[in-house]
Amino acid sequence: MRRVLGLLVVVFVAIVCAGRDLYEVLGISRDASSPEIKKAFRKLSLKLHPDKNPGDDEAAKKFAEVASAYEVLSDTEKRKKYDMYGEDGLKEGGGGGHDPFDIFSQFFGGGRQQRQQEPSRGNDVVVPLRVSLADLYNGKNIPVSMRRKVVCQHCHGKGAAHADDIQTCHECGGHGVKIETRRVGPGFIQQFQTTCNKCGGKGKIITSTCPVCGGHKTNFGDVEFDVDVEKGMQDGQEVEFEHYADEFADRSAGHVRFRITTTPHELFSRDGDDLWMDMNISLKEALVGFKKNFVHMDGRIVEVNRNEITEPSQVITLKDEGMPKYQYASEKGKNYFTSRLLILCIGQLNIKINVQFPDTLSAEQKQGFRELFAM
Ligand SMILES: [Zn+2]
Ligand SMILES: [Zn+2]
Repeated sequence: MRRVLGLLVVVFVAIVCAGRDLYEVLGISRDASSPEIKKAFRKLSLKLHPDKNPGDDEAAKKFAEVASAYEVLSDTEKRKKYDMYGEDGLKEGGGGGHDPFDIFSQFFGGGRQQRQQEPSRGNDVVVPLRVSLADLYNGKNIPVSMRRKVVCQHCHGKGAAHADDIQTCHECGGHGVKIETRRVGPGFIQQFQTTCNKCGGKGKIITSTCPVCGGHKTNFGDVEFDVDVEKGMQDGQEVEFEHYADEFADRSAGHVRFRITTTPHELFSRDGDDLWMDMNISLKEALVGFKKNFVHMDGRIVEVNRNEITEPSQVITLKDEGMPKYQYASEKGKNYFTSRLLILCIGQLNIKINVQFPDTLSAEQKQGFRELFAM
């Protein structure tokens, strides 16, 4: 059934995408950054997924549009072509018309495993992100500003004031090394390689220094992140921004990974998808029952109502008042996304009861209790 739907949707892609503005489809501006594109796709594709909108053709059509727009705009090359020539620029070389479900599951699952190891990428940076338990319960966008090295705009990472000021080293012919020979005995000559001392092994000689970066090829610049902390994320889980760490003139930047560190909550503590809290009740309430309220992390007032006897340290369980379950791919990259998982799953809340005994009893009260329990 899903296959069939998938095929139907592919047909839609071909029809509906002609003449559509792909940026409009994702609801982003033309200068949107790659994290912004991802975020827009994540939000829209989850909302429009046919599993969540059974029988809704309009949603299925939009889902396919969103997937095909993402396929183009998330690919630097394709995006460039699209920006220059529009939809026509994408026609040559094919590549269009992928199953939107494939695009979807690649996005939500296994992305980490499928990524090829780039041979020379800068180091990744792991940034601890302090997040309250309430933020993990409700979800929150957290803006973070970070200072990093960026390739100098003036010299484009060459380090010279002008492009003409970079010359091939005459000493080594641009190889950075020289072959020298040495007599090691009668009739014996040994060849050996040395680093060129004129260019220091670089093969190039730069005769001027970039006035902006001082020849360092990079400057410092600030980058703004909009970290999307999603409902139910776990402590230690990471939100990744690819190629946003320090830039280099000669290789791609590493990734920035924001690692979630949860700050303690005054009422709730977390155990996986479950929550725990303590509740104090009086001895009388333990015997005759009680009605008590607490404010949950989304601001709702939740009522705990009991008519039966409650024992000290008893645990009362409220279903569906725990943490929302993080519904996307797990940290291990395993795809948890099956059709049913779009329904929001919620853990349970365990309330541990503390019965507060009175410090003293008056003679009258004692007599009252004796009579009560004499029955
Ligand atoms: Zn040289
Ligand atoms: Zn420069």
